[in-house]
Amino acid sequence: MRYLILSDLHANWEALDAVIARSRGAWDEVLCLGDLVGYGADPNRVVDWIRANARVAVRGNHDKVCTGMEDLDWFNPAARDAAMWTMHALTEQNLAYLRNLPPGPLAVDGFEILHGSPLNEDEYILSSYEAGEAMAYLDAPVSFFGHTHLQGGFYRLRSGVHRIGRPAPGCGSYVIEIEHDALYMINPGSTGQPRDGDPRAAWAVYDTDERTVEFRRVQYDIRSCQEKILRAGLPELLAYRLESGT
Ligand code: ZN
Repeated sequence: MRYLILSDLHANWEALDAVIARSRGAWDEVLCLGDLVGYGADPNRVVDWIRANARVAVRGNHDKVCTGMEDLDWFNPAARDAAMWTMHALTEQNLAYLRNLPPGPLAVDGFEILHGSPLNEDEYILSSYEAGEAMAYLDAPVSFFGHTHLQGGFYRLRSGVHRIGRPAPGCGSYVIEIEHDALYMINPGSTGQPRDGDPRAAWAVYDTDERTVEFRRVQYDIRSCQEKILRAGLPELLAYRLESGT
């Protein structure tokens, strides 16, 4: 089975559209690691597509805040403004869908999916140390997580926890093989708001028969996406950060 794994789409339809076009025929099922909305100007289009196409999704911190399930006091001002805007923009059906998303970790065919850390979807796993700690709470040797918007993740061997790479600039693909004696926490990167210095939309394809994970990147129409964000009256920062990928 080939799983198309998407995380942190953040209401960016142009990015999702480019990922769909580039990965046509390359997957059997879609999985979503949360943060479908927040920041971008197309929350309904993105949620509609995930509702229609994803076998399962787990909720992210923005999905909770943008549907009023959690206080937005601790969000920074740009994220808070975007959350308020999103709450009013979402249709009743899409609000209900997001409110009913299960929290991770969620088991899928022998691996797990989650948003932040196994204990808390608001927690960032940024270092090898944090990844090593988190692996103790996961029940499967392979897990996929998001939230940091940094493509790659971590794997653990007897020698310690190591970082996984990602496609080099100008290259759209980077493949790893899943070893039997290692543990993995894999981050497909953010489709809608990359923060690893590469502005291209990110995702991953997990092939459970071949035991490979392919990290992918594709350019998308950032200009149109930015124009929509500005036209919607969302904070300008949310438009400009897309072109630097930070
Ligand atoms: Zn996010």
